Amino acid sequence: MEHYADVILPLPINKYFTYSVPEELFESLTQGCRVIVPFGRKKYYTAIVVSIHQQKPVYETKPIATILDAAPILRHPQLKFWEWLASYYLCSTGEVYKAALPSGLKLESETAVIWNPDYEEDEKNRLSEREKIILSVLTDKDKMSIADIEKTSGLKNIMPIVRSLMEKEALFVSEQLKSAYRPKTESYIRLTISPEKLRDLFEQLKSAKKQLHLLMAYLDISRFLQKQTQEVSKKTLLAKAGVSTAVLTALTDKGIMEIYQKEISRIDQPSIPTHEAYPLNENQQKAFLDILASFESKDVTLLHGITSSGKTEIYIHLIDKIIKQGRQALYLVPEIALTTQLTNRLQRVFGSKLAIYHSKCPDNERVEIWNNLLKNKNIEMVLGVRSSIFLPFRDLGLIIVDEEHEATYKQQDPAPRYHARNAAIVLASLHGAKTLLGTATPALETYYNAQHGKYGLVVLNRRFEDISLPRIEAIDIKELRRKKIMKGNYSPPLIQGIQKAIEKGEQAILFQNRRGYSPMIECKLCGWIPKCEYCDVSLTYHKRQNLLTCHYCGASYPVPLQCPACENLSIEAIGLGTERIEDDISCYFPDIKVARMDLDTTRTRKAHEQLIDDFQKKRTQILIGTQMVSKGLDFDNVSIVGILNGDNMLNYPDFRSHERAFQMMTQVAGRAGRKRKRGTVVLQTSQPDHPLIQQIIANDYETFYSKQLEERKQFGYPPFSRLIYIYLKHRDERTVDALSKLFADYLRQTFDHRVLGPDNPPVARIQSLFIRKIVLKMELNISMQKVKAHLQKVCENMLADKRFKTLTLYYDVDPI
Ligand code: ADP
Ligand code: ZN
Ligand code: ZN
Repeated sequence: MEHYADVILPLPINKYFTYSVPEELFESLTQGCRVIVPFGRKKYYTAIVVSIHQQKPVYETKPIATILDAAPILRHPQLKFWEWLASYYLCSTGEVYKAALPSGLKLESETAVIWNPDYEEDEKNRLSEREKIILSVLTDKDKMSIADIEKTSGLKNIMPIVRSLMEKEALFVSEQLKSAYRPKTESYIRLTISPEKLRDLFEQLKSAKKQLHLLMAYLDISRFLQKQTQEVSKKTLLAKAGVSTAVLTALTDKGIMEIYQKEISRIDQPSIPTHEAYPLNENQQKAFLDILASFESKDVTLLHGITSSGKTEIYIHLIDKIIKQGRQALYLVPEIALTTQLTNRLQRVFGSKLAIYHSKCPDNERVEIWNNLLKNKNIEMVLGVRSSIFLPFRDLGLIIVDEEHEATYKQQDPAPRYHARNAAIVLASLHGAKTLLGTATPALETYYNAQHGKYGLVVLNRRFEDISLPRIEAIDIKELRRKKIMKGNYSPPLIQGIQKAIEKGEQAILFQNRRGYSPMIECKLCGWIPKCEYCDVSLTYHKRQNLLTCHYCGASYPVPLQCPACENLSIEAIGLGTERIEDDISCYFPDIKVARMDLDTTRTRKAHEQLIDDFQKKRTQILIGTQMVSKGLDFDNVSIVGILNGDNMLNYPDFRSHERAFQMMTQVAGRAGRKRKRGTVVLQTSQPDHPLIQQIIANDYETFYSKQLEERKQFGYPPFSRLIYIYLKHRDERTVDALSKLFADYLRQTFDHRVLGPDNPPVARIQSLFIRKIVLKMELNISMQKVKAHLQKVCENMLADKRFKTLTLYYDVDPI
């Protein structure tokens, strides 16, 4: 009887592919395990088996090449979750698979691998002939794709060998080189001779000074003579002796010493001492009990707690409770909120039960977390960024989505363009778990759900030590400028406020949501503004690098000395970026240490941590930054926060701009006066009477919410509708115009008035591709399955136009 397997390939194609199962593989094939399959001409992919059956497809099937796993690497309900994501976010399960698995688990022909120069063959774990050939092909090469290794070595279907070499840590997926990896096994050294033979040995090595030296170092570290033999790693030994590997090799060749491998785990930190969680105060305890009560009847609960009310501590207590019930917890945070500050607080209580999953993790660390979860190895909670919803949890009991209003929970590119908060709620329901959404500034949709009984609501409106929320003072910069009291970008109250804080040994945070020196430069005589060659945006001036850069495609350009249009020396920096503030503030306060935290200064995780640590330990006094400074940071000595320009957030053309402005300013303000005493916020704006500014000052979320909701209702925006943006991209402007009109026409045949556009998005060309956007505004009760089916039909109709094949098209469901 012929058997067939349906598999998921990591491709944007909306279906499963069927392969035949060779007789000899059938026994060991299981659902959820990985197989290598040929696809297209000379390409191999790692695919995942969805089902095994006996229905012969109408088309000719190719056989599965190899099975990679003896046991499934997915566990229930992951596959179901993938299918939900694909159907809700209008993409293929293959695209979800691609996003879900760490690279090391989904090799394909194009995957580039590198050899590990530290690898040493293990006595027990000898390499096979084929493995040796592959290693020798790779040795001393920078990196090679699996396809290239096949070509060079002349071996066929090497994927399983590559995988086995990766398990032995002789190979790595090359992206890991970017971040320093630590090998999982470390080489250790031992002496093969007995202590009585030592005297002979000294004699023997008399003329080999360096070898003797190494031997002495070994005796010293291992306490060999005291019979307290300690294990000695190769690294420690060579460092102590100060000799090269060659000296050691000489000794191993003579059989005096031998090398052995010792497993050290990258993520197990076996003996982290743990402590009881801090006891909750009365308000926290009440909130804690309210949350538990709410979970009795609701699967999702919103904890609306003002900044510094002690939400994190409540999470810790909830997680502790879940773990004690034998279930697991997932604690989601926005990317840049994942800092040492937070991990230390969690590690203190959960020790090695905690795994941390962030986007700057080297891939092998991610693979290890994945495998440890699969093997049920002591991981009881994961603290992670949005992609950690894809991990193979055994039994989730609780998901916490901290700062649930954060836009970074939405994946923008590539597909699946999922919202991790909403996906987490679905994941939790598949596990029979509860979800807690926490924030000081709930997303409008979330609060709406809480108001209408879909979610539970728990409120915490006292700060932890009962310190008042900061006093927010709106400074009318238009007025001050008119009266000539303020010339540049800094109002006297702001400068005086900083001055006072510094005199008292306190610190300041200055917030401006633009990085670089100035958002653009301009010729003040003829008005010329430099634009990106590939995108429809003006260029940002970066003074340190002395470059103009495009924040959309990353292209950079030299800074012109004179205007290329009118040839005058009349170029001027327009607007205010963090780099410029850093310069200006250093002039105002020449003796004070100023630091800047934005995308440019936090390229590495280490740099990011250093900035936070320096500020926390008061090595720096003033911290200038973009929204990064608002994300969940907990400093105890900040008495003043300056918001340099409250206007540019108010004026952005998007129906969410006011919501964003409210959240961002409230969060930044929340960094002031977290401990000991009340802080101050200086909010510079030219519209101090703007209702939104007034709501921020009064910390009046309720009024903000009801006003915004009115507007949303009036214009039929979420939560009163569901939006789907359809993006069409093409190199040729006329083609994209014609095709997007055609597309919209087809859509109108079914969706009628629900179709808006096509229009130009705010940036209508990026990386030489012209972009058009069509908006679908759907009633909430229309099923996504039906929408998907209609969209598919429209695409089929479009195929009649040959140009459609060269068009890039994608959907963004619930766009942010
Ligand atoms: P939020 O998450 O609401 O912004 P945090 O949980 O960070 O607030 O709490 C603010 C500060 O108060 C932190 O420094 C935290 O360590 C401290 N804190 C909160 N609750 C407790 C508690 N029960 N015991 C001791 N310290 C606490
Ligand atoms: Zn560009
Ligand atoms: Zn000019």
